Amino acid sequence: MPVDKDIEESALGKDYHLFFIDAQKEGEKLKERLFELYLLYTLSKNLNLSMHLDELFEKVIKLLKDSLKIEDFCLMLINEELNELKVWKANEITYNTIKDITFKMGEGVSGIAAQTGEPILIQDVSKDDRFLYYRGKLPNIGSFMSIPLKLANGKVIGVLNIHKYTINAFKETDKVFFSAVAENVAHTISRARIYEKTQKEAMFDGLTSLCTRRYFLENVHRQCSKAERYREVFSIILMDIDYFKYFNDTYGHLLGDEILKKMAYLLESNIRQSDIVSRYGGEEFMILLPKTDRDGASLIAEKLRNLVEKDLAMDSRGEKITITAGVANYPEDGKTVEEIIATADKLLYFGKESGRNKVVSHIPDMKESEIDEKRQSNRYNAALRAVRGINRLQSIEIRINDKEWKLCALRDVSQKGLKGELEGRVKIGDIYTCNAVLSSADHEPYLFRIKIVQAKEIHHNRYQIGAEIIDEDDKWERIFTLFTH
Ligand code: GH3
Ligand code: MG
Ligand code: MG
Repeated sequence: MPVDKDIEESALGKDYHLFFIDAQKEGEKLKERLFELYLLYTLSKNLNLSMHLDELFEKVIKLLKDSLKIEDFCLMLINEELNELKVWKANEITYNTIKDITFKMGEGVSGIAAQTGEPILIQDVSKDDRFLYYRGKLPNIGSFMSIPLKLANGKVIGVLNIHKYTINAFKETDKVFFSAVAENVAHTISRARIYEKTQKEAMFDGLTSLCTRRYFLENVHRQCSKAERYREVFSIILMDIDYFKYFNDTYGHLLGDEILKKMAYLLESNIRQSDIVSRYGGEEFMILLPKTDRDGASLIAEKLRNLVEKDLAMDSRGEKITITAGVANYPEDGKTVEEIIATADKLLYFGKESGRNKVVSHIPDMKESEIDEKRQSNRYNAALRAVRGINRLQSIEIRINDKEWKLCALRDVSQKGLKGELEGRVKIGDIYTCNAVLSSADHEPYLFRIKIVQAKEIHHNRYQIGAEIIDEDDKWERIFTLFTH
């Protein structure tokens, strides 16, 4: 006998009927919950893949629009310096209307949600005077929800606002669901920010804002491939501040940093748009000049050298800052980036050896003996500059090997020995011949010998040394008197 639903119902009574409807409702709710869970899962999976903020935003919009059928919304982020919320993104039409809106913390519904960290749902905004209609720019909103974008540690970084045009358009459970959405979004924004900051730091130097060595080299490599393909030329200028260590030691690192910033500004504002300048190392800068031959690059390097000499004096002290530069060119100096940079480095070194404050774009054609002779006289020039010129340092020279004399800046002298700093390795216990650098190169060299008793590397290839005088006669006594007067 077929069971008549009405009979069955009347037989089982009203309760069953209600239970039946409840179960149906529960089923619907469960389905809804499952759907929400699925959305959250998809959202977090998608967001986890986005590293860039804009890409992340596209995904959030897609989710809000396609899956959640939310047409009108706005993401506001906190500007910590100003302690206010500013519109970051919104759906297309709304964005243009409200893009300049800001709310102080605690101001309006968004400001309160951001300040308290609690979501706010308003079913009828006309009855809630906290609601400011985005300062009157969006007057048609009926119901509104503002969900804080909260990180796992409780820190609020902004709010997700959802606008509906009818009143009572939200379910109470929406608050919970959208809080989970907002948590995902907040976490991803924070991750993307860290990633973008790290990327930026890898690309741009924090002190000078010039591009870093790594990023610069990527550009040079690209330029090199392009030049090869299109048979173009390009040049690089490698420059290094002269006696920078001295400026640091004498006036402090902060002033040293100021010089580096000024140098960066000067270089950047005096090159072409297509050239790239980088902070290549501590006080070394490198410029890439696409489609520029050696002569063109030398002219620019000389212009920059001149500008530095003229404009970059230490303010009140009036001491000049100078640079030495090496210019190398593709394809003349090599077919690879490494070869070209090695040439620039060699030319820069030659510039340093031959007196500094100059641009070197090719090594003069000299015989080995002539180079030796020149090196000898330049050695004096460089040393004398150090004594009398811009540095007013007191120096000695130390003979490291047969040909090489290294300038050693004196930090302290006594009857028994000296302390100083030099570039190049010296060994404790070894005995070296030294020459006192005095203001005239005409005199007989003031030679004496020292034994290294202390040597500490204080910077790459730069040593702080302590030495004992080992001469028996009164040579040192005379030199000591000269140094200390
Ligand atoms: P040279 O004429 O031979 O180039 O002499 P120099 O003293 O400039 O040579 P050196 O390369 O030995 O010294 C470079 C100095 O630059 C050492 C280091 O203290 C300083 N320096 C490197 N990076 C920074 C920085 O970021 N800030 C400051 N203030 N100084 C730096
Ligand atoms: Mg250097
Ligand atoms: Mg230097």
